[in-house]
Amino acid sequence: MTYLAQLDTIISDKLTALAPITDKEAAFPRPVIDALSAAGLLGLVSSKEMGGMGLGLAEASQVVSKLAQTCPSTAMIVCMHYCAVAVLEQLGSESVRRDIAAGKHLTTLAFSELESRSHFWAPASTAKLDGNEVVLNARKSWITSAFHADSYVWSSKPLAAEGASSLWLIEAKTNGLKLAAPFDGMGMRGNASSPVTAEGVRIPAANALGEDGKGFDIMMGVVLPWFCVLNASCSVGTMEGSISRAIEHVSATKHQHLGTSLAELPTIRAYVARGRIKTDMANTLLSDTIAAIVSGRADTMLRVLEIKAAAAETALEVTDIAMRVCGGAAFRKEVGVERLFRDARAASVMAPTTDVLYDFIGKAVTGQPLF
Ligand SMILES: Cc1cc2nc3c(=O)[nH]c(=O)nc-3n(C[C@H](O)[C@H](O)[C@H](O)COP(=O)(O)OP(=O)(O)OC[C@H]3O[C@@H](n4cnc5c(N)ncnc54)[C@H](O)[C@@H]3O)c2cc1C
Repeated sequence: MTYLAQLDTIISDKLTALAPITDKEAAFPRPVIDALSAAGLLGLVSSKEMGGMGLGLAEASQVVSKLAQTCPSTAMIVCMHYCAVAVLEQLGSESVRRDIAAGKHLTTLAFSELESRSHFWAPASTAKLDGNEVVLNARKSWITSAFHADSYVWSSKPLAAEGASSLWLIEAKTNGLKLAAPFDGMGMRGNASSPVTAEGVRIPAANALGEDGKGFDIMMGVVLPWFCVLNASCSVGTMEGSISRAIEHVSATKHQHLGTSLAELPTIRAYVARGRIKTDMANTLLSDTIAAIVSGRADTMLRVLEIKAAAAETALEVTDIAMRVCGGAAFRKEVGVERLFRDARAASVMAPTTDVLYDFIGKAVTGQPLF
């Protein structure tokens, strides 16, 4: 069976039933993460040399988008895992890369902090060298899969070098890491995106990911393209899931006294058409962004910045349309649209947020430096 066929089986056999429970109970979707791991899908972007599938951003985008059609929480967990793996494949130890490739290790990004908030490129947290160890202190404001992942790709101020940040790999079970509060969000309720504090956390100095002070370059050069594309893939999947549920509802639901379905109302049809067009436009820009990255096109960075903002904002519009056309029925849980409406709201405030991206894109197209 191909990996996409395996993914479809996991979605139909496990994810479809689990998604509403994940949302209702704000529970981490462990059974599905275990199934993805057993199918090798957590090793999708790990190199073949390490035992992974050796696939890239295009395939990761398909996986995240497909998951998001049914459960955006699960899709975001996988999105953050692939982003962290992109860093570890370049800078991590062989043993962690082999564990990830074998599906034995879930990872994630721990960038956002209470002090610098969505400006993840400017951590306030500290790292101090003590012999062969580094001592970390931090107030991380959001870590998806907190204490469910096996490790965090973690940012701090540099030890001694010039530069805004350094990156580290931290095992989730390291002493001194504390869950500041369980996650109880309005959407993405299954992804355990909790605040985490680090007090005197000691890690081997060898867990540095890249040179001291070079964290910013890794964030911008490696993480940003992966995160913008996969976050957008989650938004596109969420749109697809909401518009397809809306189409199903308006096609099957009748005003009995008229003998016609909601889809036979021209107003409803026009809204559905707008939702379809917006979804297809976002998906087309997503494909073009991936094509730009793969071929190293000159407009790659502009596309990377554009796609996250475009998909996040369009997902707000499309899930709103899906709510509108399904009427009062969408207010309840059974149509399945309101969950996606709530989940869709996360992407625009995940850093870089849409408003920060508008500022970056505006600077880029008017020839001003981004920072
Ligand atoms: C579901 C979810 C999962 C997350 N998972 C992770 C994770 O795994 N790892 C991680 O590191 N982080 C994660 N985050 C955090 C995320 O990336 C952002 O850092 C966080 O959402 C920012 O919220 P804030 O309240 O701190 O924003 P603030 O920085 O307080 O921003 C508030 C508002 O001001 C706007 N704003 C800020 N600066 C500017 C500017 N320069 N120009 C214009 N407008 C500006 C913002 O767009 C926003 O609208 C997650 C967030 C969510 C919602």
